[in-house]
Amino acid sequence: MLPRTPTIATRLAYGSLAVGLAVLAFKGYAAWATGSLALFSDALESVVNVVTAAVAFVAIRLAAKPADASLPYGYYKAEYFSAVVIGIFIAVAALVIFTEAYQGFVAPRLFKPDPLGLGVSMVATLINAGWAYTLLRLGRKERSPALLADGKHLTTDVFSTVGVLIGVLLAAVTGWAQLDAILAALVGVTILWSGWELIKQSVIGLMDVAVDPKKLAQIRELISSNADGAIEAHDIRTRQAGRMMFIEFHLVVPGAMSVADAHTICDRIEGKLRETVADAQITIHVEPENKAKHAGIVVV
Ligand code: ZN
Ligand code: ZN
Repeated sequence: MLPRTPTIATRLAYGSLAVGLAVLAFKGYAAWATGSLALFSDALESVVNVVTAAVAFVAIRLAAKPADASLPYGYYKAEYFSAVVIGIFIAVAALVIFTEAYQGFVAPRLFKPDPLGLGVSMVATLINAGWAYTLLRLGRKERSPALLADGKHLTTDVFSTVGVLIGVLLAAVTGWAQLDAILAALVGVTILWSGWELIKQSVIGLMDVAVDPKKLAQIRELISSNADGAIEAHDIRTRQAGRMMFIEFHLVVPGAMSVADAHTICDRIEGKLRETVADAQITIHVEPENKAKHAGIVVV
């Protein structure tokens, strides 16, 4: 989920884009100066990060659009859809890396351990590490799984670049040129892995996954403690679409209760739910007591 405040999300998307472009320029130079396949793969990983940041930017703008006649439930799922685009991009990047790595393995060519190239790559990693730290800190503060995931992803990038640099130095010292191709393939595997994680999370979101059990328990508790006058609530269903949470349930009231009174109870529950979940769309179906279905009950 994106952070609650769209402005923070937008600012972070700009930041990720700027950091991604700077790191890409540095890593691109490092790959060019050394001719190392592993550093080339590392630079391609940066291309993936830049595309991810650019797509996230579009997704944030789309997700913030108000619901309209053609999309009456809003644009919140744009966030999941963007991940599918990124997933395709990751698959292409991994394919390029594996092809290059295979060629480098069968016909090894020695690269230059150009000190400036390697130094620039280290600077790029430091920038990535700094940004990863920022994302993780803000992700925890904003309780945004998307930011935390981005931060964790960048952290793995930092570790993989450090591994690549050590390996490249090792290959240069030992003269074992095939090690460079092996490292490139390993970078390809980590890219594929992060792509898989991303797609998995998005598919879960597109399939209307329920909110986590802890949150659901909290919602049930809020309903039952604020439904004075009603008899029971049942058939509670929740789903999370980006930052928006959808909650629906049936509320059983005495058959003789007036519509106005039943509506007052609904408004009270809705108000309390919104105090806990700011971005929530709540639908309550009111039923008379003889329709009460005793399944999935929340006793009031
Ligand atoms: Zn019912
Ligand atoms: Zn109403």
